Amino acid sequence: MQGLYLHIFDFFYVAMLIYIYFSKKRLKSYENNLFIILLITTAVGALLHVLSIFTLSKIIDNVIINTIATRGYALYLLVWDLVFSLYVYAISFSVGSKLYRVLKAVSLILATICFVAIVGFPLHSYVDGDIMYTYGIPITSLYILIFIFGTIWVYCLIANRKKIKDKKFFPLFIMMIGGGISVAIQLSHPEILLITSITTVVILIMYHTIENPDLAMIEQLNIAREQADKANNAKSEFLSSMSHEIRTPLNAIVGFSQALTEEDLPEQAQEEVKDIMMASETLLDIVNGILDISKIEASKLEIVNVEYNFQDLLKELVSLTKARLGDKPLDFRFNFAGDLPKYVYGDKVRVKQVILNLLTNAVKYTKSGWLTLNVNCIRKGEVARIIIAVEDSGIGIKPDSINKLFNKFERLDIEKNNTIEGTGLGLAITKKLIDLMGGKIVVQSNYGEGSKFTIAIDQKIVENPTIETTQQLDLSSAKPLNIANKRILVVDDNKINLKVATRLLSDYECTIDTLDSGISCVEAFENGANYDLVLMDDMMPKMSGVETFHKLRDMGVETPII
Ligand code: ADP
Repeated sequence: MQGLYLHIFDFFYVAMLIYIYFSKKRLKSYENNLFIILLITTAVGALLHVLSIFTLSKIIDNVIINTIATRGYALYLLVWDLVFSLYVYAISFSVGSKLYRVLKAVSLILATICFVAIVGFPLHSYVDGDIMYTYGIPITSLYILIFIFGTIWVYCLIANRKKIKDKKFFPLFIMMIGGGISVAIQLSHPEILLITSITTVVILIMYHTIENPDLAMIEQLNIAREQADKANNAKSEFLSSMSHEIRTPLNAIVGFSQALTEEDLPEQAQEEVKDIMMASETLLDIVNGILDISKIEASKLEIVNVEYNFQDLLKELVSLTKARLGDKPLDFRFNFAGDLPKYVYGDKVRVKQVILNLLTNAVKYTKSGWLTLNVNCIRKGEVARIIIAVEDSGIGIKPDSINKLFNKFERLDIEKNNTIEGTGLGLAITKKLIDLMGGKIVVQSNYGEGSKFTIAIDQKIVENPTIETTQQLDLSSAKPLNIANKRILVVDDNKINLKVATRLLSDYECTIDTLDSGISCVEAFENGANYDLVLMDDMMPKMSGVETFHKLRDMGVETPII
C-alpha cells in the first residue's frame, strides 16, 4: 500500500487544478493546448497509480484490472513524456521551425514504437513478500524511451543556454531533477514510485509559468480603448467639420479683401486690407492643415496620381519660395540635376505641398544666412527616385527633439520660436503624406547651425506625355482673361459665396446671374435659360452639384460647368 494517500492526494490536487484552469478564460495557444493534455493525462495517471497500488499488493486480483493498471500506467507515462517533450521543443525552438518539426517527428515515431511494445508484448511479474513486481519488453522499452527523451531535453537546455533563466524552462528543470531522483530511488527501492507526484508538481509549476494574461481584464481594456477611439474619432470628425464650416466664411474674407485691394482706397486702408488678406490666408492655411490631418487620420486622404511636368513644378516652388523670402536677408540657392525627368506620374498636389512645407520652414526658421534646394534623381527603369534636400543655416533642432518633430501640434523650442507663426502641423502632415506616397524623410540638424531635410519619393517617368507639352508656366506671357459680355451663372446655397463670386467677376464686364440651389438651376435651364459658363458648388442640400451636373447633361445642356 506504498504511497496510497500520496497518490490519492495527487489525483485530487490535479482535479482541483483542472477545475481552476477551466473556470478562467485563457489564450488559445499551442502551449496551452499541450498543457490541457498534460493536465488530463496527469489526473488519469494518478488514478491508475492508485489502482496499480491495489493490484500490485494483490488487494484487487483480476486479470483485466491488473492489465489496465500496469499497461495503462505505462501508457500514461508514455503520453505524458511525449506531450511534455513537445512542450519543451515548443519553448526551445519556434513552433514550425525545421528543428521543431524534426524533433516532433522523431518523438512521434519513437512513441509509436513504444506504444506497440507496451500494448503488444507480454508482461512478466514476480512476487517478493506482499508486493508483485512487473518487468518485460513493455517496461524496458518505456525506460529506453524516457532515457532518449531525457537526452533530447538536455540538448534543448544546452541549445537554449542563453535564455535558460526564462521561467518557461523552470518546469523542465524540476522534471529533470525530480525524474532523476525518482529513478535513483527506484533503483534501490523498486517499490517506491515517485514519478506520478513529480509530474503533478511539474504541472503545478507549468500552470504558473505558461503565459496566461488575465483575459477578462484585457477584454475590459479593449472596451475602454474602443470607447476612447470612438471619442477621439468624434473629436476628429468635429474638428474636420468645424474646419470645413470655417473655410466658407474665411474664403469670403479673402475674396472680399482681394476685391478691395483693387479699389482706389486711401493708402492706410490699402495697407490694412493687405493685412486682413494675409491674416486670413494664414488662417486658411491652418484650417486646411487641420482638414488634411483629420482626413489622413480617418484614412480618407487618397493619393491622386496624374501626369505632370516635374520641372515646371520645381520652377513654381522656386518662385513661391522667393516670394516667401520677402525682405529676409537670405541667400536662396537651388540646384537641379540634369537628368531629372521632365514629365512624371504622381500626386503633383501632394509632392508640391511636401516640398513647399520644407522650404517654408527653412525660410521661417532661418534668420540670416542661406537656404538651398537640391534635387537629384536615381533612375531605375521607368521609375525615378527623386531625392529632394532642403538645407538651411537656421536655428537648428536639438538632438532630443528630432524624434518629436513629426508629432502633430508639436512645436519645438517654444521660447525661441514664439514670434514665428505655426501650428506644428506641417511636418506631421508632410511625414504622413510621404508615407502614403511610399517615400522616406530624413532629418539632420546641428542645433544653432542649421538643418537638412531630405526626402526620397518614387515617381514614374512619363516618356510620351498625354498632357499638353506646350504648357508653359511663364506667367509673364499669360494674357488677361477676356470674358466680357459672356453670361455666367453661379450656383451656391451660401449667400456670401454668391456675393464674393459676383464681386470678383464684376471686374470682367460679364453678365452674372446667381441661384441658390441645384433644383432652381435645373428649373432655370428647363425654362430655356442660356449661359456660357456655370460655376457650381457641390455640397448643396437636396441636389448636390454633381447630381445637378448629371441632370443637366441628361437634359442635353452642353454649357461648360465648373
Ligand atoms: P510649424 O512650423 O507650423 O510650427 P511644423 O510641423 O512644420 O510646424 O514644424 C514643427 C516644429 O519643428 C517647428 O515648430 C520648429 O520648432 C521645428 N522645425 C521645423 N523645421 C525646422 C527647420 N528648418 N529648422 C529648425 N526647426 C524646424
